[in-house]
This record gives sequence, C-alpha cells and structure tokens, in this order.
Amino acid sequence: ETIGANLDRAVAAYPDHEALVEMATGRRWTYREFGSEVDAFALGLSAAGIGKGDRVGIWAPNCAEWSITQYATAKIGAILVNINPAYRTHELEYVLKQAEITMLIAAPKFKTSDYAAMITDVRPRVDSLKDVVLIGSQEWDGLVAAGRDADPQTLTAALASLHPDDPINIQYTSGTTGFPKGATLSHRNILNNGFNVGELCDYTPDDRVCIPVPFYHCFGMVMGNLGVTTHAATMVIPAAAFDPTATLKAVAEEKCTSLYGVPTMFIAELADPNFDSYDLSSLRTGIMAGSPCPVEVMKQVVSRMGMTDVTICYGMTETSPVSTQTRVGDTLDQRVTTVGRVHPHLEIQLVDPATGEVVPRGTAGELCTRGYSVMVGYWNNPEKTAKAIDSDGWMHTEDLAVMDDEGYVAITGRIKDMVIRGGENIYPREIEEFLYTHPDIVDAQVIGVPDEKFGEELMAWIQLRPGAEPLTVDVLREFATGKLARYKIPRYIHLTEEFPMTVTGKIRKVEMRDQSVKLLG
Ligand code: ATP
Ligand code: MG
Repeated sequence: ETIGANLDRAVAAYPDHEALVEMATGRRWTYREFGSEVDAFALGLSAAGIGKGDRVGIWAPNCAEWSITQYATAKIGAILVNINPAYRTHELEYVLKQAEITMLIAAPKFKTSDYAAMITDVRPRVDSLKDVVLIGSQEWDGLVAAGRDADPQTLTAALASLHPDDPINIQYTSGTTGFPKGATLSHRNILNNGFNVGELCDYTPDDRVCIPVPFYHCFGMVMGNLGVTTHAATMVIPAAAFDPTATLKAVAEEKCTSLYGVPTMFIAELADPNFDSYDLSSLRTGIMAGSPCPVEVMKQVVSRMGMTDVTICYGMTETSPVSTQTRVGDTLDQRVTTVGRVHPHLEIQLVDPATGEVVPRGTAGELCTRGYSVMVGYWNNPEKTAKAIDSDGWMHTEDLAVMDDEGYVAITGRIKDMVIRGGENIYPREIEEFLYTHPDIVDAQVIGVPDEKFGEELMAWIQLRPGAEPLTVDVLREFATGKLARYKIPRYIHLTEEFPMTVTGKIRKVEMRDQSVKLLG
C-alpha cells in the first residue's frame, strides 16, 4: 500500500473522528476535513506541474501545513525533502542544490529567523528551484483553490500509478556525529514502520498523541504522523516546538494519551517549575527515543507522568527509523534498562566491528539491521550507501549494543563515542548513568579528551540543580570512589547550564569535545 491510499482508508472509516489539532491557532480537522485539505493541496501541486519523483522541499516548524504537505506529496508521488528548521542560507542552499528541489514550501518566518528573506537571498543561485510557496500566503491559498477546482479523477489516476517501493521522502540524519546525511526512503519503508510503531503502542482511534518532536525528523513524521494516521488516532501539535510548558499544556488540555520525546525533553518537562499544576492523568503511553535515557529519568516518566506503558524505541533515520522497541507488558526493569526487542518483520544482529563475526550473547557488538526498513540509499551518494549497507543487505548502524538471552537489546554507546583510556574501553553511557545517581546532578555527559599519557582522559560536563553547591573534581572523586573503577572516574569536570544540541534535541558530543579541548587549553 502507499501512504495516500492508507490515509484514504482512515478517512473512509472514521470521517468524523479528529485527525489533527494545532494548539498555536486552535485549528482542528476531522479525518474528512483533513483528507479533503490534503486532496485539494495534492491536486493544486499537480496543477502546478509537480509529479512523481519531483522533489518538494519543506522548511517549517511543526504546523498543520507541514502534515498536509507530507500527505499531499505522498499522494502524487513527489519526493518530500525535509529541511532542518535550524538551517540558515549556506545550509539551505546546499540542500536545495543537493536534492535538486523544484518547489520549496516554507514558513515565512520561525522565531527570530526570517525564512522569506533567506529564500530570496538563496533563490537566484539554485537553478532547479522554480516555485516557492510560503505557508499562509496567497500562493498557498491559490494552490488549494486550484486543487478544489481540478478534476478529482486526476488524483485517483496519480495515486493508482504509484508503487510502494517508489522513493517518497528524503530525510536528514540529526548530524550528531558530523554533517547530516540525506536518506532516501520509500512508502514501504516509512508507512510500515509508522504502522508497526503504532501497533506496539497499542494505538486505537481513541488515542490522542502529543507530538512535540520535529516533523522535519523521522521521530515526528514517521513515528508521529504516520504512527497516528495508520491507526486513525489524533495528532496534537503543541503551541511551541521543544517547549516543556507548551507540551505539558497540550497534554493537559487535549487529554493526550501518548507523549513523545527525547530524554532531554522529558528532563525539561519533569523540571518545569509548574509541573504539578498540569493534569497529566490522561497519559497512558508514549515514546522515548533518540538517545540513551538515564534509568532515573525513565522511572520518573512512569511514576510522575503516569506513562505506565511508555515504550522505548531505538533506530536511525536510515532504517525508517525504528529497529527495536519495548512492548506493553515488558517489565519496568526491561523498559528502563533496554531498548526492547527487534521490531516485527525485521532482523538484527550484533557483530564484532573488526572481524564482522556475530558476537556471543552478552558481548558488545555493532548493531546491524536488515529488512523492509532499510533505506533505498543516501541520496545521490552511492559510495556512502555501499559503506553503510553491506552486500547481504545489513545496515551497519555504528551503534554498540548487547543482547540478552531473551533478545532484549541494550545500547552501550556509539562506536565513535567510545573512549579508550590507557587501552581500556570505556563506555561514557555507564558513567553518565552513575552520575545521575548524584542528587545535585540534573544532566551529565561524558566525553574523551586527548591526553598525552593515556591517549584519552574522561571529562564530564555537568548541569547542577539550581542552588546546588558547585561540584569539584575532588568531591566527585570522593562520591565515586568505591562505586566506580578508578579509571572510570572523570579526570575533569565542566559545570554548564547547557549542552551543544542538534535540532532533534541530541547532544553533539563532537562539539563538546572541540569546546573541551579549548577549555583545557
Ligand atoms: P548523524 O548520523 O548525522 O551523526 P544521528 O545518528 O544522531 O546523527 P539519527 O538518525 O537522528 O541521527 O539518530 C540515530 C541514532 O540515534 C542511532 O544511531 C543511535 O546512536 C541513537 N539512538 C536512537 N535511539 C536511541 C535509543 N533509544 N537509545 C540510545 N541511542 C539511540
Ligand atoms: Mg547516524
């Protein structure tokens, strides 16, 4: 099935059920209204000359028009290119050219950034770019109006000509370890993954899912939008992106049953000064994903936010994204310490990165995934694709993991983050987990910094609770002695209020390392 055909089924089965709520404006759409808006926009795009395989860029924060564009492009087989809302002219120009985008759909501005002005600046240098449609502008309305006047048969014919294996989306990785890479994905890739994620969250049309994570990223558009519409449930967009208060408000006011986030977002929500004033009792489930979640945070998400069925997902943009997930019914311990078991219809294996041999259970190895979810390839980059996907079809994730006898997987870190100090392999994750047990520590991130004697030394960046006594290396050493092996106790501490972050809310350890080298002078 294709994404457009799947949406049509939800519209036919639940026409009066709420599909989408946009908190910033109070706008609401039933499935009938949403479907009709999507069809009008799809026909409008088609009348403007956009067809199968053409690249349509979207550059906007989460809003209803983002979702409408997502489904409208899927209906006519155009390839949606998700553009990072944090980009500025240099990066915008790069992605417009790299993906040879024909039409750009964009918010006129976002926070303090004037997108319209940046587009005007870049446009003359991008030959492929024929049309720019600003959200909320006359051009947008014009496309919708043209679509409403067009013959609906055009859309039926366009939809019928599509195949599940057609590329439909170019998504960029978070850029945690370097420059973001564009992964080309098909209907089969992302529709199935969204559906399976929703299945493991036990979604029914009664679920109301709060999506504060960016649509630009797979977490928002696949696990969010597609996970929800494949189950005819309701998407709720909080009034502001990455804003703990707006998120808590959306959950309370819209009685959401499910909430998504990366660990840093849940940490911020739990720390909200007015946390106790929000009624979160409607929450049942949700998804935590994107980076390792401290056990302490997970426990509080269950106990203080009431997300008793919260599931953890592990995956990457290149695998549509989810490869493992915890199940409703897993024990609290399994949910706080592992990323669950392999997803339906997929295979995973852990291999020794040096030899390629499958490692024994309980031993760390590189996690590899195979199955329907593996991307078509990196857009216009066959060499990188060949490096990532081997000749047997395994996607190499560069993540290290261990698997227990029952198939539960724990991520121990990224290959690139592993610290080798005097020949000992150290997984920063383990030390971060330990630091979270200190009552004054809100967030802690551990990296390796170059050292003449040991090759690398450990440095911890620590965010303390407001009003806490400043933590020194000596105090930390005292706290850790007897609990951590000596070589795992960080040699340096940097107290900070914030960490360098990607737009998806992940901590950029590469940048922490660069800054630390400067700090240590
Ligand atoms: P880039 O590839 O550009 O460096 P990125 O890998 O962070 O960035 P994404 O595709 O958004 O880009 O994220 C996938 C990565 O996120 C995984 O490879 C893994 O390292 C990490 N990750 C995802 N989910 C989890 C999880 N539940 N626990 C631990 N790590 C996770
Ligand atoms: Mg990656």
